[in-house]
Amino acid sequence: MAQISDWYSTRLGHRAFATLVEVTTSRSAQGRQQAPTPAPKTSAVVSYRLARQRVVDSILRGDRPIETACDAQAELRRVAHNCGTLLPEPCPLCDGSDLVAVTFAFGASLPRSGRVVADLGEARKLRNRGRPSTWYVIEVCRQCWWNHLRESFEVSG
Ligand SMILES: [Zn+2]
Repeated sequence: MAQISDWYSTRLGHRAFATLVEVTTSRSAQGRQQAPTPAPKTSAVVSYRLARQRVVDSILRGDRPIETACDAQAELRRVAHNCGTLLPEPCPLCDGSDLVAVTFAFGASLPRSGRVVADLGEARKLRNRGRPSTWYVIEVCRQCWWNHLRESFEVSG
């Protein structure tokens, strides 16, 4: 299963992704010795791969109705159509080739429903607004509407 870093590097390039997700070592690695500046928080990527696989397995075993997982809401469908990035793997349920990733950012002064991170320009705006945010990557199948949280990570402001 592709990771978000692969997804971003495909779309934005590794360097762009690295500037978006700042890790604790990045400032010292750049040699900036501005002692009074607190170190940024670590930005580990949280993977929901195991939870996703449990859902898939329960559906494939027949323990859970497929409708409970192929239930993308209207807004998520719209975002998947307009801003989804095609993933290099088939849908785990219908085996279709239209599985996309969409990213939402949540944080102070952002909409309660999150802001869609549609492209690098939007990503840079969020990164440079001076406030941290949490980004959630959701995979959505545009054929059967399977959807599941895939990864999340912090982006320091
Ligand atoms: Zn599907």
